[in-house]
Amino acid sequence: MIKVAINGYGTIGRRVADAVRSQKDMTVAGIVKARPDYVAHEASKTFRVYSIDKNGTEAFKNEGIDVQGDLESLLDNVDIVVDATPEGQGEKNLELYKKHHVKAILQGGEKSTSTGLSFNSYSNFSDSWGKDYSRVVSCNTTGLARTVSAAQEKFGVLKVDATIVRRATDPNDSKKGPINGVEPSLKFPSHHGPDLRTVLNLQDATTVAIKVPTTLMHVHSINLTTDKPVTQGDLADLFTGHGRILEISGKAGITSTAQVMDLAREMGRKRGDLFEIAVWKESMYAAGNTIRYIQAVHQESDVVPENVDAIRSMMQAMEKDDSIRETDRAMNIGGN
Ligand code: NAD
Repeated sequence: MIKVAINGYGTIGRRVADAVRSQKDMTVAGIVKARPDYVAHEASKTFRVYSIDKNGTEAFKNEGIDVQGDLESLLDNVDIVVDATPEGQGEKNLELYKKHHVKAILQGGEKSTSTGLSFNSYSNFSDSWGKDYSRVVSCNTTGLARTVSAAQEKFGVLKVDATIVRRATDPNDSKKGPINGVEPSLKFPSHHGPDLRTVLNLQDATTVAIKVPTTLMHVHSINLTTDKPVTQGDLADLFTGHGRILEISGKAGITSTAQVMDLAREMGRKRGDLFEIAVWKESMYAAGNTIRYIQAVHQESDVVPENVDAIRSMMQAMEKDDSIRETDRAMNIGGN
């Protein structure tokens, strides 16, 4: 049984904790909370809760939360830590993980240089095999890596050109924006293109990112230049066998991210999560050496199965296909 610590129990951390808990071969030894708030109260009903440091434990006790100790005491009793602390904090925490000889997975908000290694299940599972430190790429990069690697397997992809329409912030946040305006990223390319190349072998990946006032999902308009020519008919089975990619249809009433998220709720997923990348069937277009499609990415949850697979790769616990199948079965992804 692989013993896992979750440091940072926010949008990503709480979902990874549930996903790890649903697997047969791993267990959540404890979750680390920064504050004794409502989320800590709820978490303590399921998980062993730890504070960041010794000073923090008193505050949890004062709020009636059964606190087991601090982060360092948890690290002494685990095989691996999933760090889901806010952007920039994960890199700082690496020193502590090294001190306690614990393997660590950082998230996409950290620089790719912090671990020197990045992870996506479909595109480079084996690169993290047995490694001590890796980083699951961001929600947008995970979305790109999933569908581009499916095209890469069938036709070879030389170049990716994508426009990323980004959600402003997550649904539980009432501080960030924009709430009225469309905010393009003025740096070209946006960081997503170079980030994609940390997990996929491509000649070129260019991205433009534009933030819009919504909290539901990101939307990507993708243009691939392929090695082999592709016909419209070739696209019929482009994503077959890739359970983490879900084809959706405007004809069936899914014409915006509002209905994609409604579908996830109808699927009965906890928190209304959609771990799969949703690709609109009608948007799939091929001509010559070009493939185009439009996809939606649930930023709060698409990286979650990747964190589970990264644990198995780094712990040398299961090979790629077995791990993906097992993760998907336990999380009910892709009809498993
Ligand atoms: P979040 O703010 O929702 O959660 C972070 C949690 O960590 C919060 O509960 C916060 O209180 C806690 N925290 C703060 N300082 C801490 C510390 N020193 N030690 C332990 N916990 C601490 O953040 P998030 O959205 O879950 O993002 C976490 C990471 O995942 C970031 O690198 C982010 O870029 C990445 N990521 C986020 C998304 C997304 O859309 N939210 C998607 C993919 C990847």
